[in-house]
This record gives sequence, structure tokens and C-alpha cells, in this order.
Amino acid sequence: MSETAAVQAPCPWHREELSDWARRRQQQRLPHALLLGGAAGIGKERIARALLEWLLCEQPGGGLACGRCRACHLSASGSHPDYFRLTPEEPGKPIKVDQVRALAEFAERTAQYGGPRVALVMPAEAMNRNAQNALLKTLEEPGENTLLLLVSHQPGLLLPTIRSRCQQRRLPMPAADSALPWLRDQLGDGERAPALLSAAGGAPLKAVELEHADWFVRRKSLLEGLVGVIESRGAINEAVQPLLAGDTLTLLDALYGWTVQALKSEWAGQASEDAEIAETLHRLARSAGRVRLLNFGEQLLRARVALRAGANPNRELMVEALVLYLAGVDPNADPLATATTATAGS
Ligand SMILES: [Zn+2]
Repeated sequence: MSETAAVQAPCPWHREELSDWARRRQQQRLPHALLLGGAAGIGKERIARALLEWLLCEQPGGGLACGRCRACHLSASGSHPDYFRLTPEEPGKPIKVDQVRALAEFAERTAQYGGPRVALVMPAEAMNRNAQNALLKTLEEPGENTLLLLVSHQPGLLLPTIRSRCQQRRLPMPAADSALPWLRDQLGDGERAPALLSAAGGAPLKAVELEHADWFVRRKSLLEGLVGVIESRGAINEAVQPLLAGDTLTLLDALYGWTVQALKSEWAGQASEDAEIAETLHRLARSAGRVRLLNFGEQLLRARVALRAGANPNRELMVEALVLYLAGVDPNADPLATATTATAGS
């Protein structure tokens, strides 16, 4: 085969980590089940795929798959018989118990090519309780020369019995001095990189997504609308409509990003990386105050965890309650509870 297959390379900040795993493999110290955690958008999928493709490659070199051998072509096209991918059938949907059973069957077969067998479960927290329970036996006895690699944005949502059967590795947020050069390269325009990285909470791949996200393009007007209503305690219902246009998790991330930036620039002496919204963030900090902003951040995190775990609150009510809280109209509000109760009752 002369053509090169599109095998996965890790992000630059994960090269060292991948070499480390390659070394452990050579010393036969790689576990049979690995749980790879870390924030969304830092490149976990890339390093996971790079590791599995490297394991299957027939002529790996320098800790990377060669991209030329039969195994690499099969891996890249998703048709390697010793490589099982367990992902939701549709993005954002749960991984079902039937899918986990198919993985169990895969683990019981012998390797078709006589080499290792690998499975990728991603995102692992998409498995519901039944699916996780169905995976336990396979995690305990995955068969010889098999690696089960679980990738999770929130390993804390997995059953303790799943976590305890895996070797756990949490990847940190990459340092800005590694992330920024890569991001500038991706964008082909250096100027916007710091603002995007800051809005993405430091996660470089999320920053690339933000470049094309409608809310980021409109962030100044969205934030001004929000701050205007907090200052005037004006018509909340109208003010939340523009915020509801996109996906709920993205909105929660955006609100959280603004909250952190407002707190940092006002009370930790760190100027906002996003000059376009710096003045509006200052107004947000002044009108909400430090304590309320801290509590607001806490509520956003709770809402995000609940949503990822499958909660389905009425989003308009939830966002309204969040804004009411931030405006100080209802200091005892519990936005998530309000929205969830309302949904349950309707
Ligand atoms: Zn290869």
C-alpha cells in the first residue's frame, strides 16, 4: 500500500504523554483498562486514537502509527476487526446496554490479526447505569492482550466500580504557551487566539469550535443585553430570549467563562484577554458583586453536571431563574430545582 492513511497524531502538548505510554507498553506495563479524564476540548480523543492506532500498527516508529501498513489503513477507515469503538449512536445520546454487550462479545473473540485488540469507549459518561453495569465483567476480564480505553470529560459521573477497575489518568488543561501557538496556527490569524482561548476556559480545541460558533461572534451584544438587564433589573423574559438561541451546554459554558473572567479581572488583577468585552465584564462585576458572582458560577457548574448526567430541565425557565439570581431579584433562587420541578409537573 503506497498511499498514507489518515492516522491520528496527538496534539503537541500530549506528545510527551503518548511517548510515555509507548514506553510503558514496551515494558509491558500498560494496564488492560485505562480511564482517561480531563476537560472537554483539550484533545483527549486525539491522544486516545493515536495510542490505539499505534498499538495496532504493524510498523510503528517514534511512538506514532506509521500510516502505511495494512493495520493503519484499516484503523483509519474504521474497519480494523480488532478495534472496537463504543460511542453514542447519535451525538449527545446515551450509550445503550446493547452496544456494551456487543463490546463484551468483541472482547471474547480472538484477535483476527494475531496482535492486540483495542476498544475505545467515548464519552464513557454517556453510558447509563445499566450500560456501565454491563461493562463491569469485560473490564475485569478483558481477555489477553486487550486494552479498553475509556475517555471521559467527567469521570466523577461514572460508577465507582467502573473507576476502580481502570487505571486512571487525568490530563490537565494545556499551558497557554503550548496552546496559543497551536491555536494561532489553526486559525491562521494570531490576533483572535488569546480571546478565543480565554472564552474556551483554556481548552484549545473548544477555542477552534468557538471561532465558528454563533454565540462567540455575538458575544458582545449578548453580554451587553445580559448586563443591561442586571443593572436595570428590567424585563428578564425578553432579555433571555437571545441567550436561548443556541445549545444549553454552550450557553452555560459561555456564562461560566464570563463569570470567571469578570471575577479575575475585577478582583485578581488579571486583565481580560478579550478586549472587546472587557468594559462590559467590568460592569457585570460591579453590578453583581463578588459573592453573587461566585455563587452564580457555582450554580452554573451544578447545572452543567446535571445536564451532562441526563437532566432535562425546562431551559427557558432555568436561564430565566439564573438571570434573576444574577440580578439579585431572587437571592435564594435555585435555578436548576425551579426548572426541573416545573418540567416534572408539566
Ligand atoms: Zn502502521
